[in-house]
Amino acid sequence: MSQPTRHIPLARPAIQESDIAAVVDVLRSGQLVQGPRVGAVEAALCRRTGAPFAAAAANGTATLHLALLALGIGPGDEVIVPAFSYVATANAVMHAGATPVFVDIRPDTFNIDVGRIEAALTPLTRAIMPVHEFGLCADMDAVLDIAETHGLAVIEDAACALGAQDGGREAGTMGDAGSFSFHPRKAVTSGEGGCLLLKHEQHWLAVRALRNHGIGRRAGGDADDFIYAGYNYRMTDMAAALLLGQLERVDAARERRAELAERYNAAFSESIAVTAPTVPPGKRHAWQTYHVMLLPSLDRRSIVHGLAALGIGANYGAQCIPALPVYREKGAFHPTDFPTAHAAFNNGLALPLYEHLQDDDIDFVAQSLIKLVGKP
Ligand SMILES: *Cc1c(COP(=O)(O)O)cnc(C)c1O
Repeated sequence: MSQPTRHIPLARPAIQESDIAAVVDVLRSGQLVQGPRVGAVEAALCRRTGAPFAAAAANGTATLHLALLALGIGPGDEVIVPAFSYVATANAVMHAGATPVFVDIRPDTFNIDVGRIEAALTPLTRAIMPVHEFGLCADMDAVLDIAETHGLAVIEDAACALGAQDGGREAGTMGDAGSFSFHPRKAVTSGEGGCLLLKHEQHWLAVRALRNHGIGRRAGGDADDFIYAGYNYRMTDMAAALLLGQLERVDAARERRAELAERYNAAFSESIAVTAPTVPPGKRHAWQTYHVMLLPSLDRRSIVHGLAALGIGANYGAQCIPALPVYREKGAFHPTDFPTAHAAFNNGLALPLYEHLQDDDIDFVAQSLIKLVGKP
C-alpha cells in the first residue's frame, strides 16, 4: 500500500517557541507546583470571563470532581448529565459517590435536550451538569430556569468551550461552577490541566483546600490546618506556563477555527450523506471539534479507515455514556432510552480542526470524505 501524501491528525496543539521558553523558565525558577504561574492562569481566566473566582487543578476531570465535592454532592444524590459526552462527565459524578442520571440530547446541537430534564428529576436530584458539547453552549437559559425552580445547583462541563458564549455570557460563568480542560485534545493545552470558575467564595475556598490535601482554614480560624481528607489535584507551574501564552491567543485561534468550520460547512452543503453542524442564534461556538453526522446506512468504521489511509485523522466525537460497559453493567440504563445520543455515538464523525490547518487541508479532508461516502 502506498504511503499517504498528507498527515492531518484529528487535533494538534499550537505550541510556540515562546511557550516552550516559558516552561524552561519555570524549571530554572525552582518553584514547580502551584506557584505564581498557576495563580496567573487563574487571574487570566477571571479577567477574560469576568468570573469572580477561579481555581486551577490537575485536569478537567479533577475540576468536575472538585466542583461536585465543594457543592456538597455525594452518596445518595443524583446529578443530571447528558447521555452524549466524553465519559469523564459521568465518571466525575461517580467519583463523588453520586449517581449520574442521563438525559438524551438534541440532534441539531448534540447538547442536553432541556425539554427532557424535568421528567428525569427525582427527590434525590441535586444538580444539573450540562456539557457544552464540542464547544457549543447548551441551552443555558432553560437549564438555569429549571435549576432555580427546583433548587438545584448547576455545574457547566465547559471542558471544550473556552471562548464560547450563550446570549453574550461566557461559557463557564453561568452556573455555580464551570469546568475547563486543557488536555492536548482541547483548543488550548497545558499537557494535563483544568480550571474551575466559581460564583461563590465558600465553594472556591473548599476547592482550594480539597485540591491540596485538604489544607485550608476553618471559618473564623486564624491559621491553615488539615480540614478535609483532600486530594492531590494540584496543577504544576510547568503546565501553567505552557498555557499562559496560549490563553492570550484564544480568540484569534477560535476565529481561525470558525473560518475553517465555515469552509467545511460550505463543502458539505450539497451532501445528503454528511450533515454539517449548525449554530443556533445567540451562541458563539468555540469550535473545539468539528462534528458531522453520517447517514446511518453508511459504515463509519470503513470511512474512518479510508480517511486514515489518506493520512486523515477522524473518529467518533463522544460516547453514548449509558451504552458503555461500565454504565450498562449497572443495569439501570438502556441505550435505547437515548436514541439521539446513540445515533450520535454510532453515526457521528469528528474531523480535523485546528488553527494551523490550511484552507486546502480542509478541502482535501472534505473532498476525501465526500468521495468515500459516495461509494458506500
Ligand atoms: C476532555 C473532557 C473532559 C475531561 O478533561 P480531562 O482534562 O481530560 O480530564 C471532561 N468533559 C468533557 C466534555 C471533555 O471533553
